[in-house]
This record gives sequence, C-alpha cells and structure tokens, in this order.
Amino acid sequence: MLGFLEDAGFSFTDDEYEADVILVNTCCFIDDAKTESIETILEMAAMKTEGKCKKLVVSGCLPERYKEELIKELPEVDAYIGTKDLSEIVSACSLPDEDQLTPVFSGKRIVTTPGHYEFLKIAEGCNKYCTYCIIPYIRGRYTSYPMEDLLKEADTLASQGVKELILVAQETSIYGKDLYGKEMLPEFLKKLCQINGIEWIRLLYCYPEDITEEFLQVMAQEKKICHYIDMPIQHASDQILKKMGRKTDRASILATIHRVREIMPDAALRTSLITGFPSESEEDHQLLMSFVKEARFDHLGVFTYSQEEGTPAAKMPDQIDEALKVQRKDDIMRLQEQISLEIMNEKIGRELQVLIDGYLPDEDVYIGRTRMDAPDVDGFFYVKAEESLNTGDLIIARVQTANAYDLYGEMIKRYESTE
Ligand code: SF4
Repeated sequence: MLGFLEDAGFSFTDDEYEADVILVNTCCFIDDAKTESIETILEMAAMKTEGKCKKLVVSGCLPERYKEELIKELPEVDAYIGTKDLSEIVSACSLPDEDQLTPVFSGKRIVTTPGHYEFLKIAEGCNKYCTYCIIPYIRGRYTSYPMEDLLKEADTLASQGVKELILVAQETSIYGKDLYGKEMLPEFLKKLCQINGIEWIRLLYCYPEDITEEFLQVMAQEKKICHYIDMPIQHASDQILKKMGRKTDRASILATIHRVREIMPDAALRTSLITGFPSESEEDHQLLMSFVKEARFDHLGVFTYSQEEGTPAAKMPDQIDEALKVQRKDDIMRLQEQISLEIMNEKIGRELQVLIDGYLPDEDVYIGRTRMDAPDVDGFFYVKAEESLNTGDLIIARVQTANAYDLYGEMIKRYESTE
C-alpha cells in the first residue's frame, strides 16, 4: 500500500498530529486484535480535531470482515479498504481537491521496520481451516507470490541495507505448491541465499506436517539461513488436535522435532500453544505440559482460546471457563520459564553472531539478537563494546550471563561476511 501511495506522490510521517490522511491497518484474528484495532481507529479519529487530519482510512482484515457494521458504527471513518483491493488505496487516501492518479505499482517497497531487517510476505491466505481460526474465511485460499517478483523484492531490500530477511505467510513451508505444482521453498531459499547483502534469512510459521527433509537439508547447508524453526503446534493431545482440525498428531510432531535436532543440533525451536480449547480436560492439559517438558522449546508463546464468531469451534459444546484457560496458560508459562532458563544458561561462555538492533545510551550498552532470536517475539542480547557500533552491524559476542529471556555479554570482534 505504501508503495502505491509513494508512486502517487504521497509522502509519509509517523506523527499522527502532522498527517493530512491517517491510514489504520487492522487485524481481526482474535478478539484482542479487534479491540486494539477499534481503539486505534477511535484514537486516530480524534486527530480530525486535535491534529491536521482531513481523512481517516481503515484497511485490512477488520473492514474485510465487518465493513457494513463498521460503516454504521464508525461514521468518523472516511474510507475502507479490504485485504484484496489494495490498488484502491490511492483513491481512498486522496483528498477531494487532489488530482486522481491512476495507480500503476512500480514494485517499490517502503521499509517500515528499523531498516536492517524486513519481512517478506511470500504467500497470502490459507487452506487449512483449523476449526478455531478465521483467517481462511478472511484471507481466502493459499496463494503464493511468484518467485521472480519475490526475488526482485528481496534484491531491492538488500540494496536498501536490509541484512536480515524474514519470510512470512500464514504458512511458509508449502510455498509454491499452488503456483508451480510442487513445494518450491528449498529452491526459493537457495536463490535468496545468492543475494548479496542479505546475511540472515529466517522463516516464520512452518506448519509441522509440511516440514520436509529437503527443506531441512537446505536449511542445514546454506550458511545464511538461521537454524530457527517457528513451528506453531497449538496443542499436543491427539483428541484436541483432531478437534482443532490440525492434520497431525503428537507422535508426528515429536518425530519432526527429533529430526530437526538430529540434522541441526544447534536449531532454536519456537512454538505457540492454545489453552482452553473447547472440551480440553485436565488430562489433555497434562499431556500438553508433558510435551512441553519433553520438546524443550527455546521459545514458546501461549494464548488462551478465543471463541471466534464464524468458526466451527465457536459452536462446539464444552466451552472452557475463562479463568481456567488463564490458569492453564500460567501453568505452561511457569514450566517454560524453567526450561528457557536452563537453555539460556547453557549458552554462557559461547561466542555467537549478533545483529545490532540499537543502543541504550543510559546504560552504554548495545541491544542485538542472535540467529536464534526473531525480532518482536524473542529475547535480546545486551552487548558491551569497546568500539562504536551501528544498527545493522554484525558482530561476534561472548555470553557472560543470562536470564530466561535475554543474554548479556561482550563484543569479541566484528563478523566477517563469507560473501
Ligand atoms: S494453519 Fe494457521 S492460518 Fe491456517 S487455519 Fe490454521 S491457524 Fe489459521
């Protein structure tokens, strides 16, 4: 959307008080996301009196799903754009006295992250229809973006200084199947690795049953690909997995985890779990707890089940009491904290590659991440350095201390790229 707007002559500001047009991009995956989206829209609507805002535009999943209701409930909003009509963003954002430009997208990408890492969306939609999830209904069927376009985009990002490329989609592991008739992720990854300037490639959202041997071998062999697997499993009790519509089971998930660690003993594994899915018994919860103990994930997020209107699970009997969902979530988080602490303590004394994300002047310390940590969701490495560093620098640092989430240590030297 930003690419379209820039081509049409718009310029951008992060300061909502300064903006003539405010664009709120929304999510409605779960209730919390809906609430946050609505609160942000209302907050931005106030800019029509407190700031310079002449037009408020709302885009994304929320209008895709609830446009009619929103038109009635939020008269402050001037235009809505769903998830499929992005080219209409220019007319939606244009002010009445402006010339209407025909949007012809040049493929330009406006980087909104700090600049040294960037997300590359490789596909849209999902065909899995997990029974608790609204995404397939909003985003449609899984559609891979053409490889040539993605490689061009990655090349542009590299020329803009991006060092870490993070591949995202509702599911990354089946990339290309719809478009090329076979999974193309291994081939795509090999091509991405040839782009000069990109030092780290990270993948998020690999559905466990679709992690193939070929993909793992490419990951193990290509130096630029971080040995980091984000594998959202959601549960580990077979009867709950079945009710969730997940097409895998506890034994297969464990087998995949063992295979990953066999091929890459240094691999960092991340997962996300849901507590309180309809009919989840104490026995199911204990099965999940024992799985967490056995799998020893490096990173783990837990969400309480959210009863989403329009999904099959919302109509299932035996919905679980909210307090119990939270209690089970807390049980898992406590257990994971111990596991994380053990894993982090094992890193003390090791020398790791660190990508610098910023500097904390009050503490005279740099913050960065290792190849085992994704931005926004995982921890930081706090590094003391004798020399001055810039955001995006790659260094080698030694771990001196750790807690359950973050590492602390000192810089050893700058990292010499192998390119
Ligand atoms: S695979 Fe992910 S996006 Fe697709 S339906 Fe399941 S939870 Fe939703």
